[in-house]
Amino acid sequence: MLDRTTPHIAIAGGGIGGLAVALALHQQGTPVRVYEKAAKLTEVGAGLSVWNNATHVLKALGLLNAAIAKGQVITQLVLKSEDGKVLNRTWVNQYATPALGMHRADLHTLLRQQLSPNRIQLNHTFQRRYEQVGQKVHVSSSRLLP
Ligand SMILES: Cc1cc2nc3c(=O)[nH]c(=O)nc-3n(C[C@H](O)[C@H](O)[C@H](O)COP(=O)(O)OP(=O)(O)OC[C@H]3O[C@@H](n4cnc5c(N)ncnc54)[C@H](O)[C@@H]3O)c2cc1C
Repeated sequence: MLDRTTPHIAIAGGGIGGLAVALALHQQGTPVRVYEKAAKLTEVGAGLSVWNNATHVLKALGLLNAAIAKGQVITQLVLKSEDGKVLNRTWVNQYATPALGMHRADLHTLLRQQLSPNRIQLNHTFQRRYEQVGQKVHVSSSRLLP
């Protein structure tokens, strides 16, 4: 259980990036907490192409199979002219992990479900005020931690 006196890594923003970093650190045993300015983590977004480098990270997080189950494997990118003529074709199926098409909300949910709710502090906006004192960095934020 984290409280405000427990040293931890603070991550500003509970988007895909913030949650992925939080999960990676958490899995390494590092105390971490995500501070998100929104009052609620809503399942917003549209379709994402999750490229092979990103699915490589999902594999390391233990989420690749779950992501594949939620999305569609992409094997090639085809660029066509207005009249349907193929201008360029790029295969993306020769890497160790697949490229996927999936909804941002599904990816966000997958990541979020791996973190206990007390690792995500909602309604908390980080102000951009940092002060370095020796080896410590003081971060001013808009609310006191609970
Ligand atoms: C239309 C569109 C299509 C895209 N398609 C693709 C695609 O196909 N493939 C792909 O890889 N990428 C795509 N992207 C880019 C991808 O969505 C972003 O790179 C990715 O979502 C960025 O993640 P993030 O976590 O850094 O930021 P975000 O998802 O933007 O999350 C940032 C979070 O931080 C919170 N926040 C911001 N400021 C503060 C603060 N001061 N304090 C606390 N919380 C804060 C916000 O509320 C938000 O929840 C697309 C982007 C757009 C707009």
